Amino acid sequence: MSLETETKRRRTFAIISHPDAGKTTLTEKLLLFSGAIQIAGAVKGRKASRHATSDWMEIEKQRGISVASSVMQMSYRDHVVNLLDTPGHKDFSEDTYRVLTAVDSALMVIDAANGVESQTRRLIEVCRQRDTPIITFVNKMDREVRDPLDILDEVERELGMPCCPITWPVGQGKSFGGIINLRTQSMTVFAPGSEKRPQDFEVIPLTEADKLRARFGQAFDDAMESMELAVGASTAWDHDAFLAAKLTPVFFGSGVNNFGVMEVLDAVVDMSPSPGPRVSTVLVNKQPVQKEVKPSDLGFAGVVFKVQANMDANHRDRIAFVRVASGKYEPGMKMKVQRTGKELRPTSVVTFMSQRREAVEEAYAGDIIGFTTHGGVQLGDTITDGANLQFTGLPFFAPEMFATVVLKNPLRTKQLQQGLMQLGEEGAIQVFKPDAGGNMLLGAVGQLQFEVVQHRLKTEYDAEVRLESSQYTSARWITAETPEALREFETTYPLRMAHDAANALAYMCTSPYDVRLAQERFPKIQFHPLREHA
Ligand code: GDP
Repeated sequence: MSLETETKRRRTFAIISHPDAGKTTLTEKLLLFSGAIQIAGAVKGRKASRHATSDWMEIEKQRGISVASSVMQMSYRDHVVNLLDTPGHKDFSEDTYRVLTAVDSALMVIDAANGVESQTRRLIEVCRQRDTPIITFVNKMDREVRDPLDILDEVERELGMPCCPITWPVGQGKSFGGIINLRTQSMTVFAPGSEKRPQDFEVIPLTEADKLRARFGQAFDDAMESMELAVGASTAWDHDAFLAAKLTPVFFGSGVNNFGVMEVLDAVVDMSPSPGPRVSTVLVNKQPVQKEVKPSDLGFAGVVFKVQANMDANHRDRIAFVRVASGKYEPGMKMKVQRTGKELRPTSVVTFMSQRREAVEEAYAGDIIGFTTHGGVQLGDTITDGANLQFTGLPFFAPEMFATVVLKNPLRTKQLQQGLMQLGEEGAIQVFKPDAGGNMLLGAVGQLQFEVVQHRLKTEYDAEVRLESSQYTSARWITAETPEALREFETTYPLRMAHDAANALAYMCTSPYDVRLAQERFPKIQFHPLREHA
């Protein structure tokens, strides 16, 4: 098959939701119905991210599972579907944002009783920033939940885009009768239980309204009425609007009962976009110039959006997750890390088939492949088969909490440095080295990150550290209009300057006023709350 055909049949999406909305259950059913797994209950370990610290560390030992299950590939209806997991715990939100840079669409799962919850809201924001198309699945209709019109209204408000219902529920909770499919003008009848397969559900055309009324009574009439209201109030289906993230199709169902799930899987294939072009920077006469890399471009190129320590603590190898952006990956081909110009010689290259990792035979735009590395690869790195380009857009957020690292045994300095460097490269934490010397600073978005890093330094690098509170409350990455302006700024605040793991210069702040005052004083300096890997 040609590059173009291979690209066209790929769908790469992430599931976003608030903890407990039913993401794990839905993921498992999607895998089950696509044939990627044979038995339910196989998606384990995915819970790791939302456990309390002690649990998390216990489960951390089984990290192999979470590595394998954070990316899943399945084939369905002659398409290759890549599903990416997003960590649920808010302390790992940075990870999630980066995962969202690697997908072409998102599936938002909401609990029909709770509507759009806080975590989902944050994820929506990121999708909105990137104009990522979103499919909405309203889950748990078998429970006593909110009125579907009400839910639609809330989704519209939270997403800031109109909804277009594709299915509509008949009743809910004990009286949940099923869903009406607006496209096929038929009703799929609900039957509880997790052993049912999509083809087992009874389908009755709406033309047999009398039959449906006799069977579902008032619930059917009410559903028809509210469905008409919803359709009247909502926008007609417009595929282009969906692709432009200006409209979300809405589905109803019950993941745990396998119900309404197939409709969603079909929607991913029928509606979601195949991989599109990605922006990169190339150097032309030593000047950075933006260039679009198309999936069908011949040369292989991809970007590292996640680095994760491997399960075996004795071998400190890690897996760099690469989202392929163009060309074709083939085993044995030569690859280069753009940032360093070094050739990449992975000991193995794998693809993720739900619970298994397999050697990759070929991969195309949209696919996620994992390189085993022993270092030398960072988050945001661009990997190509030789072409000189660098993808942009992988976000790092200014940390909101800081700690100073104090090593308990000074003889372990080398191990500490190596550990911090590697954990920084993984994005597990941000590491800042003060220009004026002294202890390293750790920056995090969530408290749990500190605890995980402390634990990993001890277990993986044999470097026991104490984390002391730091006077810093925030940081800003610095760029300047001229080298002179930068020099002046640096000499004014020598004790506030630090470099992060990617060697980017940052200004450490002790209060929100800091940035404002510094900005007023130095108008030629830009203070960035977000750094994009470049
Ligand atoms: P996650 O935290 O978003 O991954 O949520 P889970 O998939 O683990 O689901 C959270 C809880 O909700 C579990 O106890 C599930 O069994 C339950 N659950 C998931 N889907 C449904 C559903 O459609 N109906 C009902 N009643 N419960 C569900």
